[in-house]
Order: sequence, then structure tokens, then C-alpha cells
Amino acid sequence: MTFLPKNAGFFSEPVRRLWENTNPCVLCPRRCEVYRGRGQIGFCGIGDMPLVSSAGPHFGEEKPLVGSGGSGTIFFAGCNLGCIFCQNFDISHLRHGRQQTIEQLARNMLELQQSGCSNINLVTPTHLAAPIASALELAKKQGLALPIVYNTGGYDSVETLKLLAGFVDIYMPDMKYSESEVAEELSNAPDYPQINRAAVKEMHRQVGDLQVTNGLAERGLLVRHLVLPAGLAGSFEIIDFLAEEISPKTTINVMGQYRPCYKASSHPKINRRPTIEEIESTRKYAIKKGLNVLL
Ligand code: SF4
Repeated sequence: MTFLPKNAGFFSEPVRRLWENTNPCVLCPRRCEVYRGRGQIGFCGIGDMPLVSSAGPHFGEEKPLVGSGGSGTIFFAGCNLGCIFCQNFDISHLRHGRQQTIEQLARNMLELQQSGCSNINLVTPTHLAAPIASALELAKKQGLALPIVYNTGGYDSVETLKLLAGFVDIYMPDMKYSESEVAEELSNAPDYPQINRAAVKEMHRQVGDLQVTNGLAERGLLVRHLVLPAGLAGSFEIIDFLAEEISPKTTINVMGQYRPCYKASSHPKINRRPTIEEIESTRKYAIKKGLNVLL
């Protein structure tokens, strides 16, 4: 038995299938199989309607996303990862936010466009793919024309991504780890490396390399990689994968801002910032492999 929202008849077949995959929920690789429409809660901690923590222009994102009006970020509460160093743990783990309907979410998107934002930047969208795609479909009918950015932790199932084809212009996944043991210890997701690589392949298949016109990203893949202390993230292996199995022209943001947050200060492996040398050697390696490294 499937549980679709009352107005689901209005939506396209891929959107209807996203709702079906939410009840029981197999939207992400955790496959909790809970009926979120009945109030059952899985690993991500969220029912079938979005909790929005904040929405507004953001000027701290990657330069090609910002422009003069900022990136129109919508932060969703809850997360399908369990990172013990999360910098937004009040949103992802404590789930601070206000519930929105599909219509409110669509209106939110249109207001960001009206205020001059360069894109709609959906932050941590994976567990809310169904209401997000519904709101996008509705907002596009009402004039939403900005590029849509899917800003994800990268623990995404290929099946869900395939249903999102055509809704997303810019995929911005994290690539957090290349080793299963580390992914299990730090994010409670031992299969993260293989799931993440398959997801990035599908994202690139849909949108290709990042295309930037007049300084603004229009379409494509932009990978984020956070350097962890002592090479824990497996940075060089991730860079090799991108250069050899995705595209030598992949755009990557090698991020050096890691600091111990949430539970990380009591974890001996990640209770310090990476050194300048650790960050710079990762950037230099990505440049040497020919990737388009954002500065
Ligand atoms: S989206 Fe949430 S409920 Fe659904 S499978 Fe993933 S973690 Fe579980």
C-alpha cells in the first residue's frame, strides 16, 4: 500500500515514485523501510514533510554560486549521515526547524528568486527528495527559473538520483571518505565510499562537468572535499577517482576549514585541525592531477 499526499495526482510520474519510495522509505541507502507518511521515523529523524531551519541569501558559498545576489540557501533539518564532527549538528542531529508544506516550500523558492539570488541551494536534501521535487515542480510552473543546486553529504542512492534527473542543474556532493572503517567510525556509514562513488558517477552522467558563464555556475558537478587530520579522509584516493573515473576536468573545492565540532573534541583521531601542509598537499595533488580546483 502506498501513501501519497492528497494532491499527488497533480505531480509527474517521477515525483509520484519518490513519494512511493518514502512509504516505506527506501529513499536513501539506509533503506529504513518506515512509513514516514504514518509518522514513523527512520535514521534521518524526519517525517514526510520538510523541517526548514533557515532560508535566505548566503554569501559564504563557493564563488561560482554566489554572484551579486548570493546563493539562495534552504537548510533542511535532519540528515541521513551521523557525522560525529558535524558543524551544523543543531540542524542535522537536533533537528531545529519549522515544518513547511509543499506550497510553502515552493513559495520560499520563488521568494529567493525574487530577492535576486543566483540559484536555489538545497542543503541536506537527500531524505526530503519527495517534497523537494514536488515543490520544485510547483514553483517551476509558477516561474522559478534559477539553477537548482543539490547540496548533499553524498550518501545518495542512484535510484533516487535517477528520479531527480531534470530537477537538478548543479550537483554539489561531499566526498568525505575513501575507507569504509573511517566512514563507519565517523559517520556511521560503512558503505559510504562505494555508495558515494556510484552517486557521483550518476550525478556526473546527468549534468556533466561544471559550466560557468560570466562567473556563475549554470550546470554540472561541483565536488566538495573536507580535508581531515592525518589523511583520515583518504583525500588522494578521492582525487584519483575523480580524475580517472569521473572526468579530469571535475571541479573540486578542497576545503581546509575542518575544526573539531560536536563530539569530535573527545575523539583522539579528529580532535585537531588539519595542518596547513596537510591542506596544501591535498590541493597541490588535485592540481597536479588536472582537476579544476576552486581557490
Ligand atoms: S531517507 Fe531517512 S527514513 Fe528514508 S531510508 Fe534514508 S535515513 Fe531512512
